[in-house]
Amino acid sequence: MKRIIVTTSGKGGVGKTTVTANLGMALARLGRKIVLVDADFGLRNLDLLLGLENRIVYTAMEVVSGECRLEQALVRDKRESGLVLLPAAQNRNKEAITAEQMKQLVDSLTQMYDYVVIDCPAGIEMGFKNAIAGAKEALIVTTPEIAAVRDADRVIGLLEAQGIKNIHLIVNRLRPAMVQVNDMMSVQDVQEILSIPLIGVVPEDERVIVSTNRGEPLVLSETASLAGTAFDHIARRLEGEKVEFLDLEPTQDNFFARLRKLLFSII
Ligand code: ADP
Ligand code: MG
Repeated sequence: MKRIIVTTSGKGGVGKTTVTANLGMALARLGRKIVLVDADFGLRNLDLLLGLENRIVYTAMEVVSGECRLEQALVRDKRESGLVLLPAAQNRNKEAITAEQMKQLVDSLTQMYDYVVIDCPAGIEMGFKNAIAGAKEALIVTTPEIAAVRDADRVIGLLEAQGIKNIHLIVNRLRPAMVQVNDMMSVQDVQEILSIPLIGVVPEDERVIVSTNRGEPLVLSETASLAGTAFDHIARRLEGEKVEFLDLEPTQDNFFARLRKLLFSII
């Protein structure tokens, strides 16, 4: 069964592109053939997070306008041969591609890849509608903030109206110490509002930012990190593996339990 998944959120800046890049890399490391589609026309940055920006020759725009073949636009990852990127055009507006064209692109990609993961632009306008046009599943990314959760809720409604019923939640940038003193919503709070199944919780981690700047998704890092492990676990859960959620509670007692869990998940 081919998987066509859109990573979406409503609100911008919550981690869609970060999730897409790490998930792509993690799935490729599990031996899957995967294509990441940058549907953020005008503001593309998936290529940067993957460190592939200098390798772009053609984009989805040239494929759609018939200036090149689909295979010519695909950029192969330098580290994982199973991973490729279909870049978005940088200077076009979000209406540059129609929903029908997007569907056709995604259809052609499913002939060649196990997973097609589409990185959505912010908002719920035309760019969003085009990005979800060919998708069968969705990953909703939100931070534990009320504005992000409210936008996520709205997006879930729009996805369901579009016939996308297989929707999973990723809570990103969780800060357990803040949750503990009631300064941040807990994962449970977010889940209660959105009532869709949880597939991942990613803690706030400055290594995510460092890895972004280097163009090396965190899942590639040789030193273990909770955020990198969380991304890897999302990939495994998508594959149908039962993986326990990481214990992110910040108490002293839990530190060793957390370390033990992390070590177990690596070996
Ligand atoms: P979006 O695609 O939803 O606009 P991005 O993936 O571009 O969001 O992320 C926005 C910013 O947040 C980036 O600077 C990224 O490095 C940072 N970020 C994302 N996830 C985390 C995290 N778990 N910890 C720390 N920073 C993060
Ligand atoms: Mg983005």
